[in-house]
Amino acid sequence: MSGKLTITVIILIVLFISVSYIYVINNPIEISIQANIGSTETSTTSSSTTTTTSSSTTTTIQLTTTSSSTTTTIPTTTTSSTTTSTTTTIPRTTTTIEVLEKEDSVAFNSDNSENIKIYEGEFISFDGFEGENQFNLDTLVANLPLELRKSVENNVIFVNGCHSYGATILGRCPFGVWDSAGTFADGSTNSNWKLSVWVSNKAFANNRAYNTLLHETSHALSYLTRNCVNSEGENQRKNAQEFFGSEELFADALVLYYGGDYLYYRDDLVLQGSEREYLENYASLCLKD
Ligand SMILES: [Zn+2]
Repeated sequence: MSGKLTITVIILIVLFISVSYIYVINNPIEISIQANIGSTETSTTSSSTTTTTSSSTTTTIQLTTTSSSTTTTIPTTTTSSTTTSTTTTIPRTTTTIEVLEKEDSVAFNSDNSENIKIYEGEFISFDGFEGENQFNLDTLVANLPLELRKSVENNVIFVNGCHSYGATILGRCPFGVWDSAGTFADGSTNSNWKLSVWVSNKAFANNRAYNTLLHETSHALSYLTRNCVNSEGENQRKNAQEFFGSEELFADALVLYYGGDYLYYRDDLVLQGSEREYLENYASLCLKD
């Protein structure tokens, strides 16, 4: 019996490119974890690792510790690969972690046990949640410059805690963390604290809470505007990172723009006219009211 031959050609193109950047920055212990997921850009800081697989993951962990003039770079690369068929795509996850350390100051207040109002909300279950300063943090958030606050408040949560993955990487509690990916203590992501700014008790104890908050919130603004393009279709966040030199320098510039005076990476404490103008344009183009 001659049956019809049916040729079915199925071309399956799965395209998903994930690029995650995790920047962990420590100044007097500041960390910011930042992730871009689903964008088409590739990490420029990751080392030469790629994975070609249908189901594998590439994790590039780069630890950079800078103490004043010393720079130590420890790239750790884990690659697993399996072969795929021809045409297709490469699910890829790249995670880059940078730890930059300029100074280290640790001071704990342990005798502050007066009548502290205790926070009892959902943050309690978050890895590293502290809570003693949750209400103080809420107050600081409420006092952020209006434009900055409005640009993030519907998307970002502000947690008083010692971000546990950040603490693991750093070996001690960070002052602040920006965590877009929602990173668990073990480094896996997608927790309930995606898009979170963390400010630790240690930051409060060192009178750095507002500075830390301002810096991390600037990362949040930067992240939330990651898809903003100008009329030429140019990605404005990438432009800004190039204009100022890096994501960190962009964040520091935003800190100045929003009235802060504590900088983690930038040397110049004054925003130049052209820089201010640049940020004004950025805000008017990328921040919706
Ligand atoms: Zn930062």
